[in-house]
Amino acid sequence: MKKEYTCICGKKMKETELEFEGFIVKGWKCDNCGEELLDPLAVEKIREMKNSLVVKVREVGKSIVVTIPYILKDLAGLHEGEKIAWRIENGELVLGKSLLKRAMV
Ligand SMILES: [Zn+2]
Repeated sequence: MKKEYTCICGKKMKETELEFEGFIVKGWKCDNCGEELLDPLAVEKIREMKNSLVVKVREVGKSIVVTIPYILKDLAGLHEGEKIAWRIENGELVLGKSLLKRAMV
Protein backbone atom coordinates (compact mmCIF):
# COMPACT_ATOMS: atom_id res chain seq x y z
CA MET A 1 0.00 0.00 0.00
CA LYS A 2 1.29 3.44 -0.91
CA LYS A 3 1.87 5.88 1.92
CA GLU A 4 0.66 9.40 1.39
CA TYR A 5 1.97 12.49 3.07
CA THR A 6 0.66 16.00 3.21
CA CYS A 7 3.31 18.66 2.82
CA ILE A 8 3.82 21.51 5.29
CA CYS A 9 2.32 23.77 2.58
CA GLY A 10 -0.89 21.74 2.62
CA LYS A 11 -0.54 19.98 -0.75
CA LYS A 12 -0.18 16.21 -1.22
CA MET A 13 3.38 14.91 -1.70
CA LYS A 14 4.17 12.52 -4.58
CA GLU A 15 6.15 9.30 -4.09
CA THR A 16 9.49 9.56 -5.88
CA GLU A 17 13.16 8.59 -5.74
CA LEU A 18 15.51 10.93 -3.91
CA GLU A 19 19.29 11.03 -3.47
CA PHE A 20 20.68 10.45 0.03
CA GLU A 21 24.45 10.26 0.69
CA GLY A 22 25.10 8.91 -2.81
CA PHE A 23 22.26 6.37 -2.75
CA ILE A 24 18.84 6.51 -4.40
CA VAL A 25 16.10 6.01 -1.82
CA LYS A 26 12.33 6.12 -1.76
CA GLY A 27 10.84 9.42 -0.72
CA TRP A 28 8.15 11.97 -1.32
CA LYS A 29 8.33 15.37 -2.96
CA CYS A 30 5.93 18.29 -3.07
CA ASP A 31 5.43 19.71 -6.58
CA ASN A 32 4.12 22.91 -5.03
CA CYS A 33 7.00 24.03 -2.77
CA GLY A 34 9.73 21.47 -3.47
CA GLU A 35 9.80 20.06 0.09
CA GLU A 36 11.33 16.55 0.22
CA LEU A 37 10.75 13.71 2.66
CA LEU A 38 12.99 10.62 2.79
CA ASP A 39 11.76 7.17 3.78
CA PRO A 40 13.14 6.84 7.35
CA LEU A 41 13.56 3.04 7.04
CA ALA A 42 15.68 3.41 3.89
CA VAL A 43 17.81 6.10 5.56
CA GLU A 44 18.38 3.83 8.58
CA LYS A 45 19.41 0.89 6.33
CA ILE A 46 21.93 3.05 4.45
CA ARG A 47 23.45 4.33 7.70
CA GLU A 48 23.77 0.75 9.04
CA MET A 49 25.36 -0.43 5.79
CA LYS A 50 27.84 2.46 5.72
CA ASN A 51 28.88 1.75 9.32
CA SER A 52 29.54 -1.90 8.48
CA LEU A 53 31.83 -0.85 5.61
CA VAL A 54 34.29 0.94 7.89
CA VAL A 55 37.19 -1.36 8.84
CA LYS A 56 40.37 -0.88 10.85
CA VAL A 57 43.89 -1.40 9.49
CA ARG A 58 45.84 -3.88 11.68
CA GLU A 59 49.42 -5.08 11.60
CA VAL A 60 50.12 -8.80 11.66
CA GLY A 61 53.82 -9.59 11.37
CA LYS A 62 55.10 -7.72 8.31
CA SER A 63 51.70 -7.40 6.68
CA ILE A 64 48.79 -5.07 7.06
CA VAL A 65 45.45 -6.77 7.55
CA VAL A 66 42.02 -5.41 6.68
CA THR A 67 38.86 -7.49 6.71
CA ILE A 68 36.28 -7.48 3.94
CA PRO A 69 32.85 -6.82 5.42
CA TYR A 70 30.49 -9.74 4.78
CA ILE A 71 28.00 -7.45 3.03
CA LEU A 72 30.57 -6.97 0.22
CA LYS A 73 31.17 -10.70 -0.33
CA ASP A 74 27.98 -11.29 -2.31
CA LEU A 75 27.99 -7.85 -3.93
CA ALA A 76 31.50 -8.51 -5.31
CA GLY A 77 30.76 -12.18 -6.08
CA LEU A 78 33.63 -13.45 -3.93
CA HIS A 79 34.00 -17.14 -3.06
CA GLU A 80 36.24 -18.87 -0.53
CA GLY A 81 39.58 -19.97 -2.03
CA GLU A 82 39.30 -17.60 -4.96
CA LYS A 83 42.25 -15.37 -5.92
CA ILE A 84 41.86 -11.60 -5.97
CA ALA A 85 44.44 -8.86 -6.42
CA TRP A 86 45.06 -5.32 -5.24
CA ARG A 87 45.53 -2.42 -7.62
CA ILE A 88 45.85 1.30 -7.05
CA GLU A 89 43.36 3.53 -8.80
CA ASN A 90 43.57 7.32 -8.35
CA GLY A 91 45.53 6.79 -5.13
CA GLU A 92 42.93 4.39 -3.68
CA LEU A 93 43.42 0.70 -3.03
CA VAL A 94 41.02 -1.41 -5.07
CA LEU A 95 40.62 -5.14 -4.50
CA GLY A 96 39.16 -7.39 -7.18
CA LYS A 97 39.40 -9.98 -9.93
CA SER A 98 39.90 -7.62 -12.89
CA LEU A 99 43.69 -7.34 -12.47
CA LEU A 100 44.03 -11.13 -12.66
CA LYS A 101 41.95 -11.22 -15.85
CA ARG A 102 44.16 -8.53 -17.42
CA ALA A 103 47.32 -10.43 -16.44
CA MET A 104 46.09 -13.57 -18.24
CA VAL A 105 45.62 -11.80 -21.62
ZN1 LIG B 1 4.75 21.74 -0.28
